[in-house]
Order: sequence, then C-alpha cells, then structure tokens
Amino acid sequence: MKCPFCNADDTSVIDSRVSEEGNRIRRRRRCLTCDKRFTTYETAELRLPRVVKQGGDRSEFNREKLLTGFMRALHKRPVPTECVDEAIERIMQKLLSLGEREIPSRKIGEMVMRELYKLDKVAYIRFASVYRSFQDADDFHDAIKEVQKPRRKK
Ligand SMILES: [Zn+2]
Repeated sequence: MKCPFCNADDTSVIDSRVSEEGNRIRRRRRCLTCDKRFTTYETAELRLPRVVKQGGDRSEFNREKLLTGFMRALHKRPVPTECVDEAIERIMQKLLSLGEREIPSRKIGEMVMRELYKLDKVAYIRFASVYRSFQDADDFHDAIKEVQKPRRKK
C-alpha cells in the first residue's frame, strides 16, 4: 500500500480491527518515509460473476433465469420448490466462492446438471439431452420449452 501523502512504497500496519458486522477490516498504517498515518479499509468482494455466453456476449447473473431453467426441466416432476431453492442457493454459493469476475455459461449449465442429477433423474435427462446439444445456458430455456410443447395428435 503506497503512502497517499508522499507516494512512498513502504508503509506499515500499526493497528487492524474487524468491523462489528465482521465484513470489513480497518487498518491504521504509518508511512516509513514521511511518518504520516492513514487508514485503509478492506472488504471482501462478494459479487456474482458475469456470465459469458458461447458467442462472447456477457450478461449479469440472473437468479430468475436460473430458476426458470430448473422449473422447465422439472416440469410436472415431484420435486418440492424448496429443494429447487436449495439447489440454486448451492450454485450461487459456489459461484461466489470461485471469486471469478466472469464465468462461461457452459460452466453454470454443468452445475445445473449436477444439481438436477441429485434432484430428479428424469429432469436431469431432459435437461442434459437438450443442453448438451446447445452448450449454452441461455438457449436451454427455449430448447426445453420446445421439448415440452404438447405433441400434436394426428
Ligand atoms: Zn509518506
């Protein structure tokens, strides 16, 4: 950490304490060159990565979209909503713990597949068969919708 007064490279930490909420560290520093003191704050960056699609487009992570994907794959399957919520929560925790700024949509698709595998084998196969041929988490909504269209009789 450079000194904000004289721009020297060497500063030493003379005190650090964690905020009451536990999410921030406050450090008192002293410049070894000019002897001035200053405070820095350190916070953990907990941001969901942006989603990079196959074609290179980027979009913000969208929980609703993920939920819609799950619901479509689980259409008419005996899986409680709270299990779906837990699965989504696990995926989001995992994404946060990766600490990446960006993630390929393909990776999210794979996480969804793993969760569906645990939840319901039929939904898993439904999702996997459609998703594998598209390799893009965005296309799978449409594709699964397509699969679920009622077949025309005749
Ligand atoms: Zn200084």
